[in-house]
Amino acid sequence: MKLDPNQIHFIPYKGSEEFACNFNFYAYKGKWLIMDCGMGIASKHYPMVDLLLPDPTFIEKRKDQLVGLVVTHAHEDHIGAVPYLWPRLKCPVYCSPFTAEILRRKIKEFPACKKMKITEITAGSDLDLDPFKLSFLDITHSVLENLSTAIKTDKGTILHTGDWNLDPNPPLGKATDGEKFKEMCKDGVLAYVGDSTNAQKVGFTPSEEEVSKGLIEIFKQQKQRIAITTFSSNVGRLYSIAKAAEAVGRKVVVVGRSMNNMIGAAKKCGYLNDVPAFLPPEAFKKIPRDKIVLITTGSQGEARAALSRIAQGEFRGVKLDAGDTVVFSSWKIPGNEKEINAIQNKFVAAGIHVVTNGNCGDHLVHTSGHPCQDELRSMLSWSKPHIAIPVHGERIMLDAHGALAQECGVPHVIVPQNGSVICLDRNNPRVIDTIETKFLGVEPRRVIELASTALSARRKLQYTGVAFISMVIDKKNKLIDDPQIDMVGLEDHGTPAEELMFNELYGEIETTLLDTNNNDLDAIEEEVRIVIRRLLTHRYGFKPNVVIHVYRG
Ligand SMILES: [Zn+2]
Ligand SMILES: [Zn+2]
Repeated sequence: MKLDPNQIHFIPYKGSEEFACNFNFYAYKGKWLIMDCGMGIASKHYPMVDLLLPDPTFIEKRKDQLVGLVVTHAHEDHIGAVPYLWPRLKCPVYCSPFTAEILRRKIKEFPACKKMKITEITAGSDLDLDPFKLSFLDITHSVLENLSTAIKTDKGTILHTGDWNLDPNPPLGKATDGEKFKEMCKDGVLAYVGDSTNAQKVGFTPSEEEVSKGLIEIFKQQKQRIAITTFSSNVGRLYSIAKAAEAVGRKVVVVGRSMNNMIGAAKKCGYLNDVPAFLPPEAFKKIPRDKIVLITTGSQGEARAALSRIAQGEFRGVKLDAGDTVVFSSWKIPGNEKEINAIQNKFVAAGIHVVTNGNCGDHLVHTSGHPCQDELRSMLSWSKPHIAIPVHGERIMLDAHGALAQECGVPHVIVPQNGSVICLDRNNPRVIDTIETKFLGVEPRRVIELASTALSARRKLQYTGVAFISMVIDKKNKLIDDPQIDMVGLEDHGTPAEELMFNELYGEIETTLLDTNNNDLDAIEEEVRIVIRRLLTHRYGFKPNVVIHVYRG
């Protein structure tokens, strides 16, 4: 792919069709800039794959022209892939002090990242990554020290919003300053590249202040233990929970590794130092039932997280009883509903109350960190872009964001897909190409291509089972002994049904060998495989895997 070096190009490689793996590239004068490098959670569709990463091959081929990677904030969909992909890119990394602290903690477990150079940037600071001149502004979001970026070039300025909302009263950090945005954009914005998450929702995202108040009211109503789960990265929410606990005279105990890690990082960066101590799990047993608030990881139903283990009664030293309450101070990320519902049902069956945004009256126990339509309108009116490119979300959200930008009078709206190569030519902005984009999957011990045949074979085995058959034949293709048959996932071992099936398979193999005109072993194997597969498909109504080995005796 050849790009005109005199035009700025933007490629949303991943993150513009899903809530995951944000990985955006800007190219100008032969140089490349990466904005964010996030991961995603793999669905059950990919057995033994925990995480998704964007495949960096495209940008790796251009790593000599890379000026840097900016990580806008510490959410996993923006930072999570850095430790895995940086060894292939080896470029300088820029982020806010809190994001840097999180990143330093992450890469401790990745020796290949030892030489990573992380430069801390703050709102108001400028960064010269020739030909890009970057400046940063604070913007509220459900994480600390989130930054919006103005990417300035001699061809114009791009406002890369990152994730954001306009919460007027965040519990920690500053509220978004609209005047500063107007000032930053006063010389004109060539392109606006912005968060589409809530673009279908009218009005404003409720403030975290509403959640702080809601939590106090909900806490007041509880007579026994309170457990509360939220995203560990939402340090402002942890602060609100601690304040609410303090207001009702309860102590806070924290369980879950990521939660403790996040609290440690926040404290190191000067946050959470004006709330009572967060106590370790050992304190759980020593605090009376009506005096405790337990903060736990696992709001998305993750099997290995603390909340799921508590629901199963498998978390040592922490047990909830009938009459206790679990508050889900979180939303259900699309795709996780089943797992979350399963945990909630488990609690309810045990007589434990479950509180969510949907069942606590007028109170709120969660709010989003992303902008609704009125907030998007504000940002578009501050920045008055020539081109609007909605990113960060699924297609339906990107489309809604695009329609809103049009309604706000933006002259050019381009709704991209992953891999769109967008030329930001002022006179004729357009998609000039689409590059293929891939995911990688993180297994416990390796990273593989998600489209690999090994992985699809594993998935198939999971669904359809397998029959292994080996046999030895003589020169006349006659069986020398009974074939060896092993079936996995098709019959219960040692049952009459299995015996019956084996006999049927023996008969079918014998007849096939008797009738065959083939003499080549590979051809015989294939012929037997087709016959057996047909028989099993007929019996079960689905197509099991069949592996045949034929040897000459
Ligand atoms: Zn975010
Ligand atoms: Zn995000």
